[in-house]
Amino acid sequence: MTTLRWGAVTDVGRIRTNNEDQLLVADPLFAVADGMGGHAAGEVASQVAVEALRAAFDRDHSADGLAEAVRIANRAVWDRAQEKSEYRGMGTTLTAVALVGDGDGETLAVVNVGDSRTYLLRDGELDQLTDDHGLVAELVRSGQLSPEEAEQHPQKNVLTRVLGLDEDVEVDCFQVVPYKGDRLLLASDGLTNEVTDAQMASVLRRLADPQEAAAELVRMAKDNGGSDNVTIVLVDVVDDDDRSGAASAALADDPRPTQTARREAPVRDTETAPAPRPQPAPERSPQNRPRRFTFRVVVFVAVLALLVAGAVVSIGWYARGGYYVGLKGSEVAIYKGRPGGALWFKPTLAERTGVKKDDVQAAFVDDIKAGKPEPSLGAARRYVKNVKSPEPAPTPTPGTPSPGTPSPTPTSTP
Ligand code: MN
Repeated sequence: MTTLRWGAVTDVGRIRTNNEDQLLVADPLFAVADGMGGHAAGEVASQVAVEALRAAFDRDHSADGLAEAVRIANRAVWDRAQEKSEYRGMGTTLTAVALVGDGDGETLAVVNVGDSRTYLLRDGELDQLTDDHGLVAELVRSGQLSPEEAEQHPQKNVLTRVLGLDEDVEVDCFQVVPYKGDRLLLASDGLTNEVTDAQMASVLRRLADPQEAAAELVRMAKDNGGSDNVTIVLVDVVDDDDRSGAASAALADDPRPTQTARREAPVRDTETAPAPRPQPAPERSPQNRPRRFTFRVVVFVAVLALLVAGAVVSIGWYARGGYYVGLKGSEVAIYKGRPGGALWFKPTLAERTGVKKDDVQAAFVDDIKAGKPEPSLGAARRYVKNVKSPEPAPTPTPGTPSPGTPSPTPTSTP
């Protein structure tokens, strides 16, 4: 069973007068939303979204339930925006993480719409799990802009996807298997625009206590400018079997771990107590990496191998399943296989026909050059018979078409 521990801070920053960000800490659900819109509508949008998310997720504690909860939150913001003219056009980002499933099937479901972000710190490495739905971020992803150019881009704040601007919204969702020591960082752009990923990683490695780490990140964002609202939710994965160790990566790296002000999450479902995770590692160290090779991974690899084998068989069947009429030098020939082959399945010569390329009617030459597929050897032979010019000699001698042949030679027709 997985237990979580968390810290959370939201701050108006140094420039703005109101805080349009919203955070949600409702174990096992955590979220950050960054609202936008005039007349305080941004605050309304982020608050409506977070409340709707929480209520909807309560009805279905699953990964699908979380994605659906985001769609319901979108609809809630949209509906509210229709009520008042000041609310028209308001919207909000939303990223959320929830622990779903039970026993060995427990995962962290992650969802995102907009440019708030969820990061994962694992084994000291910080990875951005979510994609930003911004104009500039999309240009970077498609290779039209370098990350350095993006930093300075005037349209850095233009979002391509947010909650509340349409009746429906596309939601990014995926799942992460939680390991003891993982830290999930949810943050609004007020943090990520002011503090580099390297700086964030350094704080997350250094400060074990999630509340302290969150507060330190907010302090850095404000020191670096604080031009926007800053909101952070930091969620640590704590294994309840070894809670006294509280062995997060940060704790292991911190020579003076402070235990004060740590909020322990209540253990969920103690009655059902599912089987412990199969990874045996009792404590964290770099050598523990192989523990990720769990039963689940084995099953995944096995399924993948089966899929690949199936694909190879299908391609082989496709590649070797037919015939085609092509050229062998200047002679028409029938091949088994596909023109050009498929992957490593090359066509093989099935039979020579004795028909010279020059004897083929002009209309068929291009097809044969490219390879004319036929379903069977018989069909290929019939095709070869049909394409032969009625006059076997390349020199056109008028008046010699064999009797009964309807003279299809196109040369004389206008
Ligand atoms: Mn913001």
